[in-house]
Amino acid sequence: MTGLPPDSHTHTQWSWDATAGDMVGSCARAVELGLPAIAFTEHVDITRWVIPPDRQERMTVHGRGVASDGRFDPPPLDVDGYRASLEHCRERFPELRILSGVELGEPHWFPDEVDELLASGAFDRILGSQHTVELDGRPWIVDSLDHGDVPPDLTPEAIVRAHLSEMLELVTGCDRFEVLAHVDYAVRRWPDGPAAFPVTRFEEEFREVLRALAGTDRTLELNTVIPLDRRIVAWWVDVGGRTLTFGSDAHAPAVVGHGLAEAAGLARSLGFRPGRHPSDPWHR
Ligand SMILES: [Zn+2]
Ligand SMILES: [Zn+2]
Repeated sequence: MTGLPPDSHTHTQWSWDATAGDMVGSCARAVELGLPAIAFTEHVDITRWVIPPDRQERMTVHGRGVASDGRFDPPPLDVDGYRASLEHCRERFPELRILSGVELGEPHWFPDEVDELLASGAFDRILGSQHTVELDGRPWIVDSLDHGDVPPDLTPEAIVRAHLSEMLELVTGCDRFEVLAHVDYAVRRWPDGPAAFPVTRFEEEFREVLRALAGTDRTLELNTVIPLDRRIVAWWVDVGGRTLTFGSDAHAPAVVGHGLAEAAGLARSLGFRPGRHPSDPWHR
């Protein structure tokens, strides 16, 4: 027993952007690491992002690409194929608890599509994500923003504020997800790198999002693509947040479990402990 938490946010070949995804490989890696559970939270993105002309050629995934209006149409999730893979993996790795899941991008913008998806069967982990920020009235995917793409009067600070304000809309405008994924998503693109991000300048915006999430008794994700600033988790505690999940956001088997040991240490230092069942969120 390693004491590692479950990896509650990973992607496999069933996610449109996981070109190196492999569910069997991710299960094998989870067993090797001694993870108590893994959740396969595949992307459901409906927002049609603006893609700058110089990047349009690279945006062809699974035979789909940028439409003639310069917007990207994310391929839909093949739910039947995904569920067949889950069953296959559960048979092959009986020692691993394998959770189903989805990562809903901007579900507050697409209530009908989301309800239709969720009516098709249960998912163990439903993540809500704000991947998008509206600049000049059009939707851009935040973590691939090059600062050359955006209107010159928009500072990195203004982008982070716009992103957090849209995340607040996501939390207050949709109750279909249980876990808020990567609250620090925009920090990934901070110009001098995430370590230089001045988190305290955005304290009130973060607190507002966290307060709304805690007020509806939902869960914050500690996403480990970049280290989540300890102060954000402390604010989560301060506004009454009680539960945490951990997610590597792996898009390939080798990344499963990445950063979870450090993240679990941070959570423990703020009083969070594993739940009764190995796959439960941590709580305090
Ligand atoms: Zn995401
Ligand atoms: Zn993800």
